[in-house]
Amino acid sequence: MKKYNTIFLDRDGTINPDPGYISSLDQFEFYDFTFPSLKRLTKDGHRFCIVTNQSGVSRGLIKLKELDRIHDYVKNQFMDNSIPLLGIYVANDHPNSATSRRKPGDGMFIEASNDHFIDLKNSLIIGDSINDIQAGKDLGMDTILVLTGHGSQTVLDFPDLKPNAIVSNLKEAADWILK
Ligand SMILES: [Mg+2]
Repeated sequence: MKKYNTIFLDRDGTINPDPGYISSLDQFEFYDFTFPSLKRLTKDGHRFCIVTNQSGVSRGLIKLKELDRIHDYVKNQFMDNSIPLLGIYVANDHPNSATSRRKPGDGMFIEASNDHFIDLKNSLIIGDSINDIQAGKDLGMDTILVLTGHGSQTVLDFPDLKPNAIVSNLKEAADWILK
């Protein structure tokens, strides 16, 4: 059983299906296993922080106002399920002009760490893309790749990536942490 200071969660493909550039609330839904899994981890004393790349904003495909609506919904759902969420950090950068905020950059993690006194070296990131795993590794965090979202493609594209664990989904990530 592992106890992390904070569990960072990627958004699309990790806690919700990723149809690509979700631009309105009606396109957003959580996986059915998301809250049961997060509740088990909460019971074990864990807290969470969402870190998400949303280049659709700088591509002109997602309006900030809609993104805020989606994230208000996410925060409310976490609250309704009594899941401690420190915050939602968003990088709107286009990949071609990315700042260090965009994963695999460390910007959002450092910001969250300063805001909430997070011990990054004793934290974990769960995500479905190379950007999530690379960011975590660069910061000395543990990393779990889920095969939902782009995860199964990530495994094929980056066979040498070697996260701490590769699991089917967030439910199995919780199993891995709690075992
Ligand atoms: Mg993702």
